[in-house]
Amino acid sequence: MKIICIGRNYLNHVKELNNRLPAEPLFFLKPETALIPNKLPFFIPDFSNDIHYEIEIVLKINKTGKHIQEKFANVYYDEISLGVDFTARDVQEKCQKNGLPWEIAKAFDFSAPVGNFITKQKFKDLNNINFSLEKNGKIVQRGNTKNMIFSFDRIISHVSKYITLKIGDLIFTGTPEGVGKVDINDALTGYIENEKMLEVKIK
Ligand code: MG
Repeated sequence: MKIICIGRNYLNHVKELNNRLPAEPLFFLKPETALIPNKLPFFIPDFSNDIHYEIEIVLKINKTGKHIQEKFANVYYDEISLGVDFTARDVQEKCQKNGLPWEIAKAFDFSAPVGNFITKQKFKDLNNINFSLEKNGKIVQRGNTKNMIFSFDRIISHVSKYITLKIGDLIFTGTPEGVGKVDINDALTGYIENEKMLEVKIK
């Protein structure tokens, strides 16, 4: 399986990092080795002094597809969860400054904890889902999918133009504003609406 991550999909997050607004969905990949199952710890790697959390809604692909039309995209996923797109911000800034790819800042081992999945049937409107991240019991990020620049369906359609989506692939759909640094002993907890979906301890 592979993990596809959308960047710059929430306006206020694009602004907080002083990035330019994308004209179409911007994506990058994390390999299978990036995955951390729910409740397992994240160890800060030694190559970064500035690891950031980015809480994101995650879609699980349940059907193989290529060149998926936007109007059919909703049948390619059944379940959603939350994930953290851990980012070595210091490394990423260096890559960006030099026009280099981001993999060493984004795709490293265990950079993608993912929580429990719930059926999307639970939500009346997928374009109006609240989610949030707590650090040590205090809310640091709050998002609502209505603020996405590109919808889930648009993302699936766009990505599948270039890369075949396969059963079990995960799509991280972008983070809202409020990203920040993690330190050893921090505890991250992610919620969709009021339901606890994800827990990660920082070691
Ligand atoms: Mg992200």
